Amino acid sequence: MQLSLSQEFSIAAESNFAYQTDSSLERAGQRQVVRAAMDYSVFNLISQGFRGHRGWPRAWRDPEPKPRYDAVIVGGGGHGLATAYYLASEHGIRNVAVLERGHIGSGNVGRNTTIVRSDYLLREELPFYEWSLKLWEGLSRELNFNVMFSQRGVLSLLHSDGDVDDAVRRGNAIQLNGSDAELFSRDKVLRMVPLLDPDNGRFPIYGGLLQKRAGTARHDAVAWGYARAADRLGVDIIQNCEVTAIRRNERGAAIGVETTRGAIAADKVGLAVAGHSSRLASMAGLKLPVESHKLQAFVTEGIKPLLDTALVFGVGHFYISQSDKGGLVFGASLDGYNSYAQRGNLAAVEDTVEAGLHLMPALKRLRLLRHWAGVMDMTMDGSPFICPTPVGGLYLNAGWNYGGFKATPASGWCFAHTIARDEPHPLARHYTLDRFARGYAVDSTGAGPQPNMH
Ligand SMILES: Cc1cc2nc3c(=O)[nH]c(=O)nc-3n(C[C@H](O)[C@H](O)[C@H](O)COP(=O)(O)OP(=O)(O)OC[C@H]3O[C@@H](n4cnc5c(N)ncnc54)[C@H](O)[C@@H]3O)c2cc1C
Repeated sequence: MQLSLSQEFSIAAESNFAYQTDSSLERAGQRQVVRAAMDYSVFNLISQGFRGHRGWPRAWRDPEPKPRYDAVIVGGGGHGLATAYYLASEHGIRNVAVLERGHIGSGNVGRNTTIVRSDYLLREELPFYEWSLKLWEGLSRELNFNVMFSQRGVLSLLHSDGDVDDAVRRGNAIQLNGSDAELFSRDKVLRMVPLLDPDNGRFPIYGGLLQKRAGTARHDAVAWGYARAADRLGVDIIQNCEVTAIRRNERGAAIGVETTRGAIAADKVGLAVAGHSSRLASMAGLKLPVESHKLQAFVTEGIKPLLDTALVFGVGHFYISQSDKGGLVFGASLDGYNSYAQRGNLAAVEDTVEAGLHLMPALKRLRLLRHWAGVMDMTMDGSPFICPTPVGGLYLNAGWNYGGFKATPASGWCFAHTIARDEPHPLARHYTLDRFARGYAVDSTGAGPQPNMH
């Protein structure tokens, strides 16, 4: 089956994405951003090999916080670190600190199921996620750090005629945006993933929608790569430093933060704390339209290569891929109640495994090795915020729902622009806090104002 181009949904014409992409990519390609004492290169790898690998310097420094910075970013997850990196590399703002209450990678950036894609439907989101995918494609080279981005494709399964119609519409939108989508027949899906049970009574397989350039990345390498690259541009990465208050002047503008390692003054304060966004924003008197929920992920024992794509089972809300170590990595829906605990309960384990077995009964022979949870920042419409706030000097990056890992590069790129220029980036112009008041929600899944449904 071939997708036909739909006239009704002219995203590319409406957005200024093509202009942005070309100029930015050109610059990114020409620039040697990361220069350092010791690059990760074949030459250095061999020469260190002869010395027993004892001469490698630390990946990033461990500085004491300075009393003042031009900008502090709260949260050393993927988004905070990417923001600091692009502030330094794209905007020349290097007197920057990233303040992380635990260690780098201890939040959702190191807990997700690593799926990266840009196959979104709405024109408010497609150009943003496609720019992210383009940044992913050059990220290992840009950061001089192998983030193991593997473009193995993401295949969304379709289970009814209605599903197929919907996929055609989504595929058309994706192609109109200049990205890739391919509609698969049922036979083609089964050739690609032979272990699927195609005829199960409830969700028979009708076909699939594949985005070939999508895939997976090693999640904690993304945090380490951005941390190392930002550090080499002069950014201070300060771990074990919890922000406990936001300092404001008599006009109410943010002028710094209180932390467990003392007060730090800053001209600009950016929040990138994912599941803790409401807590941090409330320190500046803001009530966010965000709820915190838990989401679990799972990995089985390692096995020989079985699945060479990332598979999404939309109706059962289950997604699965195979890690380079051989474990099957999968996840499903939220635990279903508000919580800040980074651990989930057994009911969600049962639901998730049930969805997986429904899809591929042979998985029952595998043993579950580990499962863990992260705290998700769920919004009313399933879309994020990358914007200034009503509090002067305070900027917000939040509301990533299930999907913030894939957004990491573009999110950092756009948030750095917002902080540097005091205005939303054109690609993220729909992701403002006032969109609900304006009646312009970006309802990604059409689930309505229910954070636990997106
Ligand atoms: C189980 C699971 C599966 C997922 N699967 C996918 C997927 O397949 N694809 C996808 O695109 N997305 C996925 N996501 C979502 C994605 O991981 C998140 O949306 C994204 O990582 C959030 O941004 P972040 O990396 O900056 O967050 P985090 O890594 O959580 O960073 C926020 C940081 O802020 C710190 N912090 C909090 N409070 C304070 C404070 N007071 N002071 C200082 N620091 C503070 C935290 O310690 C944390 O390190 C998944 C998430 C989970 C939990």
